[in-house]
Amino acid sequence: TVNATQELLLSRIRDVADHPKPGVVFKDITPLLADPVAFTALTDALSEFCVRHGATKIIGLEARGFILAAPVAVRAGIGFIPVRKAGKLPGATLSQAYELEYGSAEIEVHAEDLSAGDRVVVIDDVLATGGTAEASLELIRRAGADVVGVVVLMELGFLGGRARLEPALAGAPLEAL
Ligand code: AMP
Repeated sequence: TVNATQELLLSRIRDVADHPKPGVVFKDITPLLADPVAFTALTDALSEFCVRHGATKIIGLEARGFILAAPVAVRAGIGFIPVRKAGKLPGATLSQAYELEYGSAEIEVHAEDLSAGDRVVVIDDVLATGGTAEASLELIRRAGADVVGVVVLMELGFLGGRARLEPALAGAPLEAL
């Protein structure tokens, strides 16, 4: 069953066929970001997840994860940490490579941003294959911090991201709003 908030969020997500390449249906969240009522409802729901799981740090995954996680961090009073594509962060980083459908990618976090005892929630807009989120969980664990949950706006169930992520979650919840 779909509640009123989910109804609102769904109505503000635009499906764009064949972007960025043929066969892909791109989930465009720009209509949601442009609607302050919907964006606030999303921020509230993400924030509630972070507070419920006792997060002490919130990670946003570049780039749309930044847009969602930053207001959540302010709303919840929890620090925001960017996980970026390789080569963007200026300080000492931890890096994690991962496999894509064709080729590979690499993400990084500032090593000083995470430490033992941190309870981290990861936020992104879309969980697709789960490769990006999985790599972020590796980074968190390598930094000695604990993953307390992953929360996304949307999960594309047919791509199997949830199953791929399961070992790295190690019992932490994955919620798709
Ligand atoms: P993945 O690593 O396959 O789970 O891909 C996740 C990343 O790619 C997320 O940061 C999403 O923003 C983006 N992404 C993948 N597939 C889509 C899609 N169909 N629509 C919008 N964004 C997507």
